[in-house]
Amino acid sequence: MQGTILIVEDEEKLATVLSDYLRQAGFRTHSISDGSSVVAWVREQKPDLILLDLMLPGTDGLEVCKGIRSFSSVPVIMTTARIEEIDRLLGLELGADDYICKPFSPREVVARVKAVMRRTGGGTTIRADGLTLDESRYQAILNGRDLDLTAVEFKLLQFLVANPSRIFGRQQLMDRIYHDERVVADRTIDSHIKKLRKKIAIASPETELICSVYGVGYKFEPVAADRTEAH
Ligand code: CA
Repeated sequence: MQGTILIVEDEEKLATVLSDYLRQAGFRTHSISDGSSVVAWVREQKPDLILLDLMLPGTDGLEVCKGIRSFSSVPVIMTTARIEEIDRLLGLELGADDYICKPFSPREVVARVKAVMRRTGGGTTIRADGLTLDESRYQAILNGRDLDLTAVEFKLLQFLVANPSRIFGRQQLMDRIYHDERVVADRTIDSHIKKLRKKIAIASPETELICSVYGVGYKFEPVAADRTEAH
């Protein structure tokens, strides 16, 4: 099993031991000891899994986890020194994939990392028509180019790709994308789709992937691009 594990841990010795064990198991590792720089690093480097300590200098693990979840579904394993903390963390529904209580054996951590990677598919990847979607990173590669999508654009594309040739109306798409019951205007979806199509057009000038069906909605269907159309 491969991938990059980010270790967020302020106890230096512990971070070193974890790093050694994970490297022996075939992973690459990177360690950060201060909570405040984690979110920016994750956004930039897109690790495959994060071991996140709860009590950290700078920004604590709770805030860090929330920050990461605002743009990425990368697997997160939280570590805490207090077993009674785990119930509270579970109740907060932070979106962490697992919790480990300290003290732990590094061997146990490696086993849990592997289990979470297996469960989450090490980043669910969908492939279609020169397109690769990596859910753990919200990353879409088309013809070798990173489309550099926002989380909403990624989710739209992912949903349409998973249901090829099916037409979805704006309301259906909104229901899929916004789970937090936010009231979003129809035009918001149009504007996200417009930006998404523009990014696709740069990576794939000859083929359009998302078609608009006049008066109905959108569908994923690769067709030869007609650039005379006004979008
Ligand atoms: Ca700590």
